[in-house]
Amino acid sequence: MCGIAGYIGKRKASEILLNSLRRLEYRGYDSCGIAVLNEKIEVRKDAGFVDEVSKKERFTELKGSIGIAHTRWATHGNVCKENAHPHLDCSGEIAVVHNGIISNFRELKEKLNNHKFRSETDTEVVAHLIEDKLKKYKNFEKAFREALKEVKGTFALAVLYSRERKIYCARKESPLLIGVGKGEMFLGSDISSFLEHTNLAVALEDGEYAILDENSYYIRKISSAEDVFREPFKIDFSIEKAEKGGYAHYMLKEIFEQPETVRNALSVDVGELVDLIDKYDRVIFTGAGTSLHACMHAEYYFKRLADKFVVAVDSSELAEKCVVDKRTLVVGVTQSGETYDTLSAMKFAKKRNAKIASIVNVVGSTATRLADVSILQGSGLEIAVCATKTFTSQLAIILKTALELGKIYGKDVSSVERELSNISSYMREVLRKDKEIKKVAEENFTKENYFYIARGLLLPSALEGALKLKEITYMHAEGMSAGLLKHGTISLIDERFLTIALIGTGENRKKVISNIEEIKARGGKVVAITTKEAENCINIVVPDAREEILPLVYAPVYQLLAYYTAVKLGRNVDKPRALAKSVTVE
Ligand code: GLU
Repeated sequence: MCGIAGYIGKRKASEILLNSLRRLEYRGYDSCGIAVLNEKIEVRKDAGFVDEVSKKERFTELKGSIGIAHTRWATHGNVCKENAHPHLDCSGEIAVVHNGIISNFRELKEKLNNHKFRSETDTEVVAHLIEDKLKKYKNFEKAFREALKEVKGTFALAVLYSRERKIYCARKESPLLIGVGKGEMFLGSDISSFLEHTNLAVALEDGEYAILDENSYYIRKISSAEDVFREPFKIDFSIEKAEKGGYAHYMLKEIFEQPETVRNALSVDVGELVDLIDKYDRVIFTGAGTSLHACMHAEYYFKRLADKFVVAVDSSELAEKCVVDKRTLVVGVTQSGETYDTLSAMKFAKKRNAKIASIVNVVGSTATRLADVSILQGSGLEIAVCATKTFTSQLAIILKTALELGKIYGKDVSSVERELSNISSYMREVLRKDKEIKKVAEENFTKENYFYIARGLLLPSALEGALKLKEITYMHAEGMSAGLLKHGTISLIDERFLTIALIGTGENRKKVISNIEEIKARGGKVVAITTKEAENCINIVVPDAREEILPLVYAPVYQLLAYYTAVKLGRNVDKPRALAKSVTVE
């Protein structure tokens, strides 16, 4: 995640790129840098804020009218100068900036063992791989394309080669746009990075690369080098809206980023965490709020896919409730890495000699320093207080970890893996139902009380659905297991209640449908989130995927239901009252 920018034209590239970096700053970053070509490529970079680094490194001293720039959200390697982008090959003739995760970078690095690597990033391998291909093919475009064919994972890339006045770029599951000017071209992760110069843009699609010179752009397919002809479109919104990717709120933008962020999370290497969970008999996942719901999914995933018993514990209760010693592994799940309750639980466990792991979005945060092993989810900055994309990334990492462990234990998880490889397209299909979901929210979310019910693997999703609604609409919502409802709570059901049922597949489906009947018999109204129409309900039907991946497929549905309800009520969606993005108090 985070931002890349590029410029080729007649003006001073360093000044234009510095402004682009400032525009991309809202996406969050930990380091930044630029590379400008002026006979030779010169790179300036460091960890820190854009203005701080650009002043210290004197970005604008760089002369030259072609360059690339980057704001980094670290996923591989610490936050430090060496790991900041751009990265160079051995010869210093190729400079690369990258957003995303190169999932096979270790294998590639091993193959390129005669190259000199200067950073711990996954990105640097791309520069060396192109260098390697260039020796073989003697043609830069061909070398670039052949390198891209070998790279796995997710990327938006921009590349400079010192012997050509061009910018090479490519995209797979990470946004990248070309800004078309008069006698100049721009490149950006989003429109805001070049909107002050031009309102004409062309979006690259997955699996495409492009070559820019000052007067033209050529788009081609990575797989076949076939030309793609695409006209620019006109941008008719302000810079402020462009920062939100054209969406009305950050929350909506972040919901729509999920096909990309989940793919990113699935590219993360979870090997070290898998080994730890394998070694320990007592495994506790701990978190607060949305992260706790991710932990609760872990209980179901590890049982189902690896036959492994793990428990999820509310981090504010862990010290009171759990016996922790050197036989225990505690996995702290926290987006910010600074959540007070989760850090306290981790510290408590550390004092008792437990092994500590963490699943975190912010590199260098306290949780990553406390943990023996940290898995970075690489979701980029989440600006809306209400967590959406960071939750589904946590889920994706937990699911991948359970799958890998299942494989070690000889389970056949191949069908789940296959479905999971389609997750981005399933999520996109759900997001295409945006208008339908909006209508359901506007017409039905008019009650005083809401129940979210589900069974099994989808139960934590029901709790999360209720939490989303509470957080941003301030209405009363409760999540509970569909089985528990009849043990008391069902007496509340009447026309003032709306129930949202998250229906699974197979036995789970049959049981939840009977529970829905019980609700209907008492005059309750039901919205069903389901893979097949359910009778007598208002249905939101999503792709018919395996149950194991439904928590990821259903998440955008209940997130959008909460979002549109909050918008209709005129709530401050991105900054709900009484809440903070990361809760750093007890
Ligand atoms: N994986 C790369 C790194 O850790 C890029 C991260 C980004 O998208 O900013 O440097």
